[in-house]
Amino acid sequence: MKSHRPGRQFLHTPGPTHIPDRVQNAMHVKAVDFASPEFMDVAVECFEGLKPLFGLKEGEVFIYTASGHGAWEAAFVNLLEPGDTVLMPETGRFSRVWGEMGEALGLKIETVENDWRTAIDPADVEEKLRADTDHTIKAVMMVHTETATGVTSDVPAVRRVIDAAGHPALLIVDAIASWLTTELPMDDWGVDVVVGASQKGLMLPPGLSFTAVGPKALEATKECKTFREYWSWSARLGFEQYRRFCGTAPEHMIFGLREAIEIIDEEGLDNLFARHARLADAARLCVGEWAKGGALEFNALRPEERANGLTVIRVREDLDAEEIRRTARDMFDVACGGGLALLANKVFRIGHMGDINDPMILGALGGVESTLGYLGLPYESGLGAAAKHLAETAPRLNRPADGRTYS
Ligand SMILES: *Cc1c(COP(=O)(O)O)cnc(C)c1O
Repeated sequence: MKSHRPGRQFLHTPGPTHIPDRVQNAMHVKAVDFASPEFMDVAVECFEGLKPLFGLKEGEVFIYTASGHGAWEAAFVNLLEPGDTVLMPETGRFSRVWGEMGEALGLKIETVENDWRTAIDPADVEEKLRADTDHTIKAVMMVHTETATGVTSDVPAVRRVIDAAGHPALLIVDAIASWLTTELPMDDWGVDVVVGASQKGLMLPPGLSFTAVGPKALEATKECKTFREYWSWSARLGFEQYRRFCGTAPEHMIFGLREAIEIIDEEGLDNLFARHARLADAARLCVGEWAKGGALEFNALRPEERANGLTVIRVREDLDAEEIRRTARDMFDVACGGGLALLANKVFRIGHMGDINDPMILGALGGVESTLGYLGLPYESGLGAAAKHLAETAPRLNRPADGRTYS
């Protein structure tokens, strides 16, 4: 028997994320002829509108009707050939799986081990590159925000050591979790390829992924002999829509994409990044209080490396992270992410990326805090600290002009 659940479930998985009504409504349209000039205009608007979202001026963005894994593969097969070596410093489960994909494609993946609690150490990357005197490493591939661990690595620092070592390797960044939550201006930071997906900061349903490709990589792909067709950047550079999408365009996703780009333009990228940082700070202040009870701690050991898109919370060895996650979802209507691979059952993850605002983060934290109480875990309440932070950092735009205060 069906039973009504009042209110709504708060979706705080680190992908998929909450979809704004405007995006959902923009997709609620009839199917159209994808070869019509009207649809072509929408698609062109999207291809152009995406570039500034990556901080890309001279280059191209490619849209795949695929999960992030598709764009992951595209980054390999457009630039690397079987037998090539890639340096992919470990960050957690996502860097590992990306590396395993590279191995399956015949690449040699060199890595630097990591404890899944800290960022990539640029000094390790520099050492590997300096040792590679005959330049067998063709690319440095890194995950910006590692969604399994809640750690964000320093992209400019990695760029600096590549340059300091005088190494010609391309820099390829998986920004699936960081894109549109954390700054990553690819031109300014000297990133050759950025990989993104639709269901995280972009606020779309899952189903699209992206490679943003700078001039050096567009040049390099011409030399790459790896078999490819669907993923091929060169094949997609034609103007005809059928080629641009390598098949029927994912029309409804494109209508949604145009609306998402519009929403982001209205907010402005600087405001968007500031909003994510502020809401993430609220979450971190709250988790810091919870942690005083001794049952929980941040997975990311260094405060400055904690991601703005999600917070990963580690539970004491004898506790069951999945029970917390299940209870939060089924009893308190807050859906969080679970632990992955080595962190299975050791952590749960609160996403705060995309279309979220103050009451949503407070609601999510409130549901999790109630869960801690419900399960009888020791914690100190963090909701007050989060609310106080939001009060202190809210924009002062609505104050009356006459200087009155509300006290
Ligand atoms: C979500 C995510 C992926 C995988 O994306 P899919 O769309 O599930 O294929 C890869 N890398 C990172 C960092 C992610 O957060």
